Amino acid sequence: QAIKIKSALISVYYKDRLEPLVELLKANGVTIYSTGGTQAFLEEQGADVVAVEDLTAYPSIFGGRVKTLHPKVFGGILHRRDNDSDLAEREKFEIPPIDLVVVDLYPFEETVASGASEADVIEKIDIGGISLIRAAAKNFKDVLIVSSREQYDEVVELLRAKDGATELEDRKRFAAKAFDMSSHYDTHIFNYLNQGQNIQVFKQSVREATPLRYGENPHQQGTFYGKLEDLFEQLNGKQLSYNNLVDVDAAVALGAEFEEPAVAILKHTNACGCATGQSIKEAYLAALSSDPVSAFGGVIIANRTIDMDTAEELNKLFFEVLIAPEYDADALELLRSKKNRILLKQKPVELPAKQFKTLLNGVIEQDKDLKTETEADFKTATKREPSAEEKKALVFAAKVCKHTKSNTIVLATDKMMISSGVGQTSRVDALRQAIEKAKSFGFDVSTAVMASDAFFPFPDCVEIADKVGIKAVVQPGGSIKDQDSIDYCDAHNMAMVMTGVRHFKH
Ligand code: 5GP
Repeated sequence: QAIKIKSALISVYYKDRLEPLVELLKANGVTIYSTGGTQAFLEEQGADVVAVEDLTAYPSIFGGRVKTLHPKVFGGILHRRDNDSDLAEREKFEIPPIDLVVVDLYPFEETVASGASEADVIEKIDIGGISLIRAAAKNFKDVLIVSSREQYDEVVELLRAKDGATELEDRKRFAAKAFDMSSHYDTHIFNYLNQGQNIQVFKQSVREATPLRYGENPHQQGTFYGKLEDLFEQLNGKQLSYNNLVDVDAAVALGAEFEEPAVAILKHTNACGCATGQSIKEAYLAALSSDPVSAFGGVIIANRTIDMDTAEELNKLFFEVLIAPEYDADALELLRSKKNRILLKQKPVELPAKQFKTLLNGVIEQDKDLKTETEADFKTATKREPSAEEKKALVFAAKVCKHTKSNTIVLATDKMMISSGVGQTSRVDALRQAIEKAKSFGFDVSTAVMASDAFFPFPDCVEIADKVGIKAVVQPGGSIKDQDSIDYCDAHNMAMVMTGVRHFKH
């Protein structure tokens, strides 16, 4: 059914690109209804326009919030042309039919991206326009909907080819596009109100692209999407590299675990040292002592001001990045003596609680692992309850373990990480690595407790730990063979607590 367009309602935010369509409608003698700003524009183009206010006998009110929302407008769009009672009602209420609706919505997405205030963003939620689009699209049997200015050229071509008329299939096609448009529009509103907890918002940050020198390796191109300056003030050094960014991300996550003065040194996203102390200097020296070899070229995070005492110690080490909430002036001056050293001042900004990763032909999304176990989460599985000091050590070890690549075992005291086994293909290998490493740096592992990121499928780990004098263990539990590990601990005066929370990090 070809339908000749006799009347049109045009209400567009951006007025550009409209001329050819308006010329065509004028030439075909189409009656044009329009809202304030659009009307002014069309009249400048020499078109005869009926103001929507004249059609409805109602003014645009509440600063334009209600312009077209009126039964005369929506009746004109929605009544069924082949339904006698609809036609009778149309007569009775003097509702002129509207055959074509052209809308270009308030630019919601653009307003969000511009960093506008919430009040301004809310005003850019189009209500009337989206309603016009949905109404016209629903009634595609009789009405043609043009739902964005991207479609003007296509519709002009269509109307030219068909002498100002459209076929049902054309109208249906435009209706489908209209709902696609309205669903995207609403998704953007959802994302905005949902505080950025969704991938669509990350897609928006594509606008904030920073080219990196290269990716993980020099032959790989790299780009960072996001606004790093919202999170850090860079006080010294070259541009953060791709690998720096990955490590800084890991450092920020681990650093957030501690209330007391703490320092962590990371390499390839894993802590090679992590300690708390009375002062930040004490914490740094302890963190460094775990593995001064790996610390070379590392990323360091501190959760207190870097003072001169600490800076003097830091200055002896070659490191890539230092992150701290504040730097004393003299400390900063000293650390700046190396021009490539990256010094970041971390702002107290809340980070997104979701994370994404591309894989195969898609993207996976998940909540970040923001669960941290405290002593209150420990359920003692063994006869022996860990001592107060052991419990503190278990909490500390579990925190580091959570941020270390699986399979992992972390050995720690209540104040510092002694060593870890990272990213091993078996938990036994991880434990062996941790023990070897601790010994090689002169630690007595019998002072340490052990944390595991996931359950022990066999009692072999507790057995190996026991042989080197480790007496307390924290693990999630949940293996069908938990009892074997518990029995071994009971027979050897070991204490083991279960948290019920696994912390895989692949
Ligand atoms: P104009 O510049 O013509 O005054 O306004 C055009 C814009 O108003 C278009 O983006 C259209 O989507 C929007 N619009 C149309 N009717 C209404 C309404 O009743 N309320 C609101 N808030 N916007 C409307």
